[in-house]
Amino acid sequence: HIAANNARESLYVISQYAAAFFANELWTGEQGRAIGLSYFKERGFREDIIRKFELGYSPDQWDALLLSAKAAGHQEEYLSKTGLTVHNDNGRIYDRFRGRVMFPIHNFTGRVIGFGGRTLKTDKNVPKYVNSPESDIYHKSNVLYGLFQAKKAIRDADNCYLVEGYADVLSVHQAGVENVVASSGTSLTVEQIRLIGRFTQNVTILYDGDAAGIKASLRGLDMILEEGLNVKVVNFPDGHDPDSYMHRVGAGAFKNYIENNRKDFILYKADILLKEAGKDPIKRAGIIRDIVESIAKIPDDIKVSVFIRECSHLLQVEERMLLTELNKMRSAKF
Ligand code: ATP
Ligand code: MN
Ligand code: MN
Ligand code: MN
Repeated sequence: HIAANNARESLYVISQYAAAFFANELWTGEQGRAIGLSYFKERGFREDIIRKFELGYSPDQWDALLLSAKAAGHQEEYLSKTGLTVHNDNGRIYDRFRGRVMFPIHNFTGRVIGFGGRTLKTDKNVPKYVNSPESDIYHKSNVLYGLFQAKKAIRDADNCYLVEGYADVLSVHQAGVENVVASSGTSLTVEQIRLIGRFTQNVTILYDGDAAGIKASLRGLDMILEEGLNVKVVNFPDGHDPDSYMHRVGAGAFKNYIENNRKDFILYKADILLKEAGKDPIKRAGIIRDIVESIAKIPDDIKVSVFIRECSHLLQVEERMLLTELNKMRSAKF
């Protein structure tokens, strides 16, 4: 156990070293300042936010981090085990992150465990984000980006905003809404929902206003309901994500928007599905089934009866019919 803990400790130490290296490059490096820092500023990120999230820049060369870490006495083994370096087929070792702005990922106690790196190129053949691989200290499905910076605000507000990306976390935070996290690097997992559940029972989904975001929010809300948490959803217009919308309308209007446009999951689902179905009665019947399917996932029977009543009003269907449908689904599960 002691040996294993020491090995893990070395991975934390090298990750923290790398975060400090990337941050130093961003603030003092010639390339970092000219390219990285100006990129963040052009996107509208304030200096205090850039510092708070320990953002950085990885120089556009093969071995900037590798050389620096070795010169500081760190072993290559740990760079490699955290995925900060990569080995090619010829046995050459080089930095994974090159010429990217860097988002360190912290666990909820604040230790750096991985990174996301965003390209500055607009070339479609270059992946927009590169993320650290899984390691002994980084298990993607158990991590929420921004939780360390958000956890106090989540408890205070008794609500957690859930967004898709790194930039969304920064922008929502910058708007003064600090109870925000992202499931970056994976689609939402049960473990991530349980992690939120340690701080609050209320989740508000703020996914991108594009087809992929809407699909992910429908999947996410069913998972959240199944874990027994309450869920609301805010839609963004015209394909905006929280980051782009915040910078479009400003902090004050953004805050008002997310407070005044949260829909409970039934209304959210009904709105989306009714739009798709139009007047077709068969499709409308499908919607009822679809919504009851979400309600059937809720473990708490009192909540179930409240939502059945709401659904009955909203869709103009008798409660009795909805309950019959609900019971059919529940017995089909066993
Ligand atoms: P930006 O605002 O910087 O363009 P975004 O967060 O809006 O980025 P999306 O395309 O909406 O980018 O993707 C949401 C999230 O999914 C990203 O923040 C990132 O965590 C992850 N992601 C996006 N593209 C990739 C990729 N090519 N590889 C791995 N992860 C990715
Ligand atoms: Mn998207
Ligand atoms: Mn996005
Ligand atoms: Mn974006």
